[in-house]
Amino acid sequence: MSTTTSTDPAGTGADGAGDRATVIAKASHPSRHVPSDRLPLDELATRVTGRLVRPEDAAYDDLTLPFNLAIPVRPLAVVEVATPEDVVEAVRFAGRHGVEIGVQATGHGARTVDGAILVHTSRLDELTIHPEGWARVGAGVRWQRVLDEAALHGLAALAGSAPGVGVVGYTTGGGFGPVARTHGLASDHVRAFEVVTGDGVLRRATADEHPDLFWALRGGKGALGIVTAVEFDLLPISTIYGGAIWFDAADTADVLEAWRTWSEGLPSSATTSVAIKQLPDVPELPAPIAGRMTISVRFAWTGDVEAGREVFAPMRSVATALIDGVDVMPYAALGAIHMDPPQGMPATEAHVLLDSLPREAVDALVALVGPGSGSPQVVVEVRQLGGAVAAGAALASAVSHRTAPYSLFAVGVGLPGVVEQTREHAAWMLEGMAPWSSGRRLVNFTQTETLEEVNAVYDPQTRTRLAQLAAYYDPHGIISAAWHLRASRRG
Ligand SMILES: Cc1cc2nc3c(=O)[nH]c(=O)nc-3n(C[C@H](O)[C@H](O)[C@H](O)COP(=O)(O)OP(=O)(O)OC[C@H]3O[C@@H](n4cnc5c(N)ncnc54)[C@H](O)[C@@H]3O)c2cc1C
Repeated sequence: MSTTTSTDPAGTGADGAGDRATVIAKASHPSRHVPSDRLPLDELATRVTGRLVRPEDAAYDDLTLPFNLAIPVRPLAVVEVATPEDVVEAVRFAGRHGVEIGVQATGHGARTVDGAILVHTSRLDELTIHPEGWARVGAGVRWQRVLDEAALHGLAALAGSAPGVGVVGYTTGGGFGPVARTHGLASDHVRAFEVVTGDGVLRRATADEHPDLFWALRGGKGALGIVTAVEFDLLPISTIYGGAIWFDAADTADVLEAWRTWSEGLPSSATTSVAIKQLPDVPELPAPIAGRMTISVRFAWTGDVEAGREVFAPMRSVATALIDGVDVMPYAALGAIHMDPPQGMPATEAHVLLDSLPREAVDALVALVGPGSGSPQVVVEVRQLGGAVAAGAALASAVSHRTAPYSLFAVGVGLPGVVEQTREHAAWMLEGMAPWSSGRRLVNFTQTETLEEVNAVYDPQTRTRLAQLAAYYDPHGIISAAWHLRASRRG
């Protein structure tokens, strides 16, 4: 099946801000429930070359497994697509029967898809590295495969902190990774998306073909359709100077304050974050950091190694390190910088962008989540943004808030018995940091299941334009992730 190439029929234009954002009447994602016994799922099964999996089938639990096990992913059925044409069939079926459709590749950013059909993309696993410096990647591919195959050609891809995350879900959300201050967001390097829009048409979106769609897919995630493949530039990087240095919790206040002042003066060759962690006491983790509170400084330097060593030296002298893992490393080992867990758990998440990080903010954070605070959070991290992330704001895309200087993100245990306490504590942490918060968020760190979240993720102009495009590209209003763009259309 070929992609269509007609241009911007929505006529939203390049700036396209138009009227005030769609007025949203509902407080959270209102699912549209079509009873499954009224859906001719057998018909869909015969139309796809992949598998149709129902809740009673053995594969259902595996295919719906979220990374955050606290999120219930219980669609009416899963279409494990084998080709882009399968995606077309699934989307057209959803349109004909007025049922919502969602998408999942790895479950790292899973959303509830109650009453919807879920397209599972893991079999869309094509991967071609073009040695002249670009890649074509299917929607089911995870970053580590791209990192490993690109490395064979001395090339690098702008993956995030966890290489188990899916390329498409990450990139459509902007994609802020460990070298972002040097090279910008992953979405800044995209050449093309292939996407089945909500009207069931397979389209190719580039700066010249469907530029409106191309704008929306960089930051708007799956709001207008289901991406089947993405093409993006690779960078000639084999190694970087980077990793993480870990300190005892007792040094938290000194390390955080030193990181704050040191990071303020860093050039864009450096990307850094700091994380207060309470990791479990498990044999997979190095003994010095297991089963206790620690603080780690993450660092990735894309310039000359000796210069990187010199730039990082002040962080080494703040306190005695438990582990110093900052050195020359293969770029493909990027996941070692943040050491995010490969396996999920039931989790709570809290996130906000900060406008500033003065000394008082550091003191407040230490009191809220540092030693003696009783914090139940497993990880509380502050990432420094800026550099090429902020500079790239000139590139038109649906990524909002990229000029924010810092991101604050916390993950806690979401198990029954402790989940309420963890949530309350996270809310208390956000309240305590409110004097320095913008109230805004990055879409990749937000579930966008409530209006509060949606409003925090997109600026009003971006949401207006996304809503205009959704009205054209998703005329039946079936794309599950776009619930907030059509709430007013439904009345
Ligand atoms: C441990 C961990 C570390 C992370 N680190 C970073 C980081 O460093 N930087 C960063 O920016 N983000 C980071 N994220 C967030 C991550 O990028 C998002 O959650 C992303 O959406 C995950 O995509 P996925 O395909 O792996 O997950 P999935 O749960 O499979 O998909 C999540 C969402 O992505 C979209 N999506 C997925 N596939 C498609 C498709 N084919 N077409 C259209 N939309 C699609 C949909 O909105 C879907 O609901 C991290 C998440 C985790 C859990």
